[in-house]
Amino acid sequence: MLYDLIVVGGGPAGIFGAIYASQRGLKVAILEKKNRMGKKLLAAGAGKCNLTHSGEPKDFLNHFGDNGKFLKSSLYSYKPEDLKKFFSDNKLPLVLVEESGKYFPETFSSVDVVNLLYTVCKKNKVDIFENTRVEKLLSIEDDNFLIETSGEKFMAKNILLATGGKSYPATGSEGDGYPLAKKLGHLVLEPKPALTPIFVRDYPFTDLSGISFKNAGLELYRDNKKVGETRGDLLFTHKNFSGPLILDFSRYIHKGDQVKINYLGVKRSQLEETFLEKASLSGKQGIKRFLSELGAPERFIKKFLKLLNISDDKKLSEISKKERNSILTGLCEMPFEVSKLGDYSIAMVTTGGISLKEINPKTMESKIVKGLYFAGEVVDIDGDTGGFNIQAACSMGVLAAKSIKL
Ligand SMILES: Cc1cc2nc3c(=O)[nH]c(=O)nc-3n(C[C@H](O)[C@H](O)[C@H](O)COP(=O)(O)OP(=O)(O)OC[C@H]3O[C@@H](n4cnc5c(N)ncnc54)[C@H](O)[C@@H]3O)c2cc1C
Repeated sequence: MLYDLIVVGGGPAGIFGAIYASQRGLKVAILEKKNRMGKKLLAAGAGKCNLTHSGEPKDFLNHFGDNGKFLKSSLYSYKPEDLKKFFSDNKLPLVLVEESGKYFPETFSSVDVVNLLYTVCKKNKVDIFENTRVEKLLSIEDDNFLIETSGEKFMAKNILLATGGKSYPATGSEGDGYPLAKKLGHLVLEPKPALTPIFVRDYPFTDLSGISFKNAGLELYRDNKKVGETRGDLLFTHKNFSGPLILDFSRYIHKGDQVKINYLGVKRSQLEETFLEKASLSGKQGIKRFLSELGAPERFIKKFLKLLNISDDKKLSEISKKERNSILTGLCEMPFEVSKLGDYSIAMVTTGGISLKEINPKTMESKIVKGLYFAGEVVDIDGDTGGFNIQAACSMGVLAAKSIKL
């Protein structure tokens, strides 16, 4: 059978592409290599599935590093509002968790999301071939495609390549899309784990796992040059630095870089002023209480002062200039060398992938091969935590589906 569209990969990008193409009357099939579609969706949001985020599409564009502008047409063509409407029309409304801006299905269940997507595919008569790994994509005569899989062969007028990235390979995303795209003439930018914690040399906070800091700061240095900075919530785990501050910025961080952490997110000069003022007005105040009033957690203060070799029962008036400087440096710019980033087994997304230069952002069609479309994490797009990645995957899939010429 000759399909109008064959979708390679049954993640959110592929499934939404298939649903919206079938709604236009196209004959569509999804080829999925695992025994079920949506394995990564099941893991999303720790099984609760954070599907999108509050805010206008224009705000979304700032959450994809340097590549956000590529998503403009996708996100305007299929907005967060449209995704919410899709789910409420299908009787699984999304609810907003106010303090985070994240939207989840009202049942907080990824299983419900995946089941719903199966139901809609079935209703729209999308053919789903599971345990079917695509191994070759060939552009053949009459602008059609021949698709060779681990099982049978397929023919299609159009292809939507939506094989995801390389992270969490057990879910099926193992980077298969890159060689498939390369064979068709596309450039692939070196993939790298992102939304991942960073491991540093001599990590001192193993015993403080679970402690977090609101709105901490991070400066990134490479070859002694500052190459970036960011702010966000920091989390200590027993092995590494994590939390949105680290995860969202990990796309820019490389092994061997230096990071300087500002735990309290306060400028060094401002902190010095506060310290000197306090020391002159209430010199008898203990250093522990001073740090606690700044918002530092108690267990951190103990550890921090121990690291600096400063007795924690000292009063402010007893702190020497040298000690003051090491407290200020330690709090505002504690340096660490990055020994590695979390690998694909713990990274939530992949940065890099099929180059955006050869994809038309208004249609998601290849600029090289007619009828070849891309969507989702397989392309060089990766977003922050908070529902941005799933929204982007769905938006790209729908834009591709809307753009296919009948
Ligand atoms: C633990 C975890 C939690 C996450 N939580 C969230 C969250 O809460 N919110 C959010 O927005 N994002 C989250 N993400 C990221 C988000 O899940 C992904 O960005 C998103 O799933 C990407 O969608 P996709 O359709 O492009 O690819 P994927 O979801 O990776 O789907 C690709 C599909 O293609 C199939 N495939 C691959 N190769 C082949 C082949 N050769 N032949 C046939 N099929 C193939 C795979 O089996 C897979 O089913 C999370 C990621 C992880 C790992």
